[in-house]
Amino acid sequence: MSMFKIPVAVAKAIGKLQKQFFWGDTLEKRKVHLLKWEKVTKKKEFGGLGVRRVIQQNLALLARWWWRFNEDKDSLWVKVIRGKYNLDNGVWLPSLPRSGCISNLWRDICSLGDPSSSIGPVLSEGFRIQVHSGQDTSFWNHIWLGDRTLKEAFPRLFLISNQKEDTVRSVKDGSGNAQWKLQFRTRRMNVWETNLSEGLHQRLDLVTLDQAKRDVLQWKWTADKRLSSKSVYQQWEQIGQSRNQLLGSLWKNLCPPKVEIFSWMAIQDRVPTRSVLVSRNIIQEGQSVSCPLCSLQLETPDHLFLHCFFSWNVWSLILDWWHVSWVCPNSLSDLALWWFDNGFRNLEKNIWEASFYATLWSMWLARNDLVFNNATLNVEVVGELVKTRVAMWMKTKFGIKVYSVEEFKLFLDGIRKLKL
Ligand SMILES: [Zn+2]
Repeated sequence: MSMFKIPVAVAKAIGKLQKQFFWGDTLEKRKVHLLKWEKVTKKKEFGGLGVRRVIQQNLALLARWWWRFNEDKDSLWVKVIRGKYNLDNGVWLPSLPRSGCISNLWRDICSLGDPSSSIGPVLSEGFRIQVHSGQDTSFWNHIWLGDRTLKEAFPRLFLISNQKEDTVRSVKDGSGNAQWKLQFRTRRMNVWETNLSEGLHQRLDLVTLDQAKRDVLQWKWTADKRLSSKSVYQQWEQIGQSRNQLLGSLWKNLCPPKVEIFSWMAIQDRVPTRSVLVSRNIIQEGQSVSCPLCSLQLETPDHLFLHCFFSWNVWSLILDWWHVSWVCPNSLSDLALWWFDNGFRNLEKNIWEASFYATLWSMWLARNDLVFNNATLNVEVVGELVKTRVAMWMKTKFGIKVYSVEEFKLFLDGIRKLKL
């Protein structure tokens, strides 16, 4: 996978397996896919689950070869490639010869840097040349001063330059202390061209060359300045994304992962309540779409987890446990925003936040027990289960051994102030 570009059909097949595994599909039955895969594969801080995308992961691995073409310049494989495709030392990055027979592998590696490739923009933005001797670096055409080529930063000067293909070294003629010798077409420069030229000189004056060292390629997004596949993937997944304050902060490791994922879906209205199943044509005409707890309203996630009298009572019971008063918000996501924007610190913050996950999860299990097993509903029983879950999760996570689960439930006021 790290050497060859994955065929699209194979990538699709792997992606399909990933989805089937995630949603719990079996050969006989396809489960409801409640969220778009693009959403699931977003990074957690952007509101997703951080599941990796096959094609981009493959391209990011392949990008190591794209980079190593320069890093390994003295190795045999690079010499063979340079010889075969007639690429001189001024060519820093994998590039295609103008004509001739080209292997698919080399073509795939070169194409990574294309702006049309999904990681192309990451690669072209991520590297620059650290100039030492300036001998292998093109003055106008390589990125070595600032974040763009000088050709892009000073297009007018490039147009009238007589040194379009010169190296940095040859523009700075003579010994290391020599002046920059920019040459332009022999005519008088107008005022704005002169200003541009002075601006360029000011930037160049900050550069000193060192004859003894070769120029090197640097990668912007790693501490050691070398490209890593991980950094390519991370940069790619940030393109066009912005932080999702609520969904990005749900991953606190206070409860089992399945409960965290369930809460993440519930806050986005993406759990299989009857309203959601109707919208996906899973529930047929004639079947009940009302809330199984009260039979009074359509069973939307907001109703089931918040507005139904049963759920409202469970939340009130848990908030009583905390001596916190509340006003029922409009939606579950509003409740979550309020819940996680709390003034608690240390252990009590963790117990408070775990109470949110435990309440949601316990209500969902009670609802399913009612729907599938005809169990009876009881607010007090669900409230006790919430407290038990919180106590067990907290005892496990923080190693609180001196209090039993029952004591934890009874003496919350004292336990929440414990110093760990
Ligand atoms: Zn209801």
